Amino acid sequence: MPGCDLKLALRNMRGAVRQNFMLAPMTHLRVGGPVDWFIEPFADEDAALAVRVCRENSVPLRVLGGGSNVLISDDGVRGAVLHLGSFNRMVRDGQRISAGSGVTLSSLIRSTKSLGLAGMEKLCGIPGHVGGIVAMNAGTREGETFDTLVSLSVLDAEGNLQVLGKSAFRSQYRDGGLLDRIVLQATWELSEDDPDAIFARFAESLKRRNASQPVSQRSVGCVFRNPPGEVAGRLIEQAGCKTLQVGGIEVSGMHANYFINSGAGTCREFLALLEEVRKRVQSKFGVYLEPEVKLWGF
Ligand SMILES: Cc1cc2nc3c(=O)[nH]c(=O)nc-3n(C[C@H](O)[C@H](O)[C@H](O)COP(=O)(O)OP(=O)(O)OC[C@H]3O[C@@H](n4cnc5c(N)ncnc54)[C@H](O)[C@@H]3O)c2cc1C
Repeated sequence: MPGCDLKLALRNMRGAVRQNFMLAPMTHLRVGGPVDWFIEPFADEDAALAVRVCRENSVPLRVLGGGSNVLISDDGVRGAVLHLGSFNRMVRDGQRISAGSGVTLSSLIRSTKSLGLAGMEKLCGIPGHVGGIVAMNAGTREGETFDTLVSLSVLDAEGNLQVLGKSAFRSQYRDGGLLDRIVLQATWELSEDDPDAIFARFAESLKRRNASQPVSQRSVGCVFRNPPGEVAGRLIEQAGCKTLQVGGIEVSGMHANYFINSGAGTCREFLALLEEVRKRVQSKFGVYLEPEVKLWGF
């Protein structure tokens, strides 16, 4: 990998290849250093070429969606990051809707609402792109991404394009079971309903969410996974960690499983706070909290 010039190696790819690209602005938390190579393919075959070239040159490759569930090291990430922002098409076919990986969940929900297709509104308020919500099987108390999903177009680790039904994936809590596959497009089968009724459910969920989560602040969403039969936020709160602070990162006073970046926070501070919270919860409850956020560059 050292010395591999991806700009040269991908000169036949449509799209963009950038060197030493700062990742912090691409994330919700606004933390993290640069990646060696940032690749934005134009279409399926360009993404496939990028995967093959990275593989042939032993360049580690990661995929970034909306950056709402990743924590990037202050020292950055070695290798390449693939970003599928150009995969932004949505197509309706009866009760099915297909969306490219780069479509934001909020615009997908807006479209299904106005088309009178129900089912996606239970995910309302989750930031992220289609690729990210599928990879994470993002969800709320009302349901998960995989509930109504029917198929995915993916690239495998060799860069082969496959269209796979839902049963090819072992999705579970906050994990779509993709293994090392890259999502290019997802298709959901929804049910017809009155747009006003969908909108009313959507507005109700959003209201509940805005009242209980610091959605407008810089965070990665829930830092820790809920341990079996428990709620991580409750354990953190009862261990007395609300508003605990390391540098520019603070445990939210509104929802204890959210860490907020005041603006000047770093990844090191985030990790120091994560360890402190984990230590306090373990010593009070004997429960070891596992991070839900994906750590990049460590
Ligand atoms: C304020 C806030 C509230 C949140 N609330 C919720 C919530 O209620 N429920 C919930 O489940 N989550 C929640 N999250 C977490 C986050 O929004 C979800 O995990 C979301 O699915 C991440 O999507 P993303 O596009 O931002 O993915 P990213 O953060 O960019 O990536 C997350 C993971 O998905 C992988 N990935 C991204 N795109 C692809 C692709 N095309 N193919 C393969 N892998 C890919 C990445 O490699 C990474 O491992 C919240 C986050 C924030 C900041």
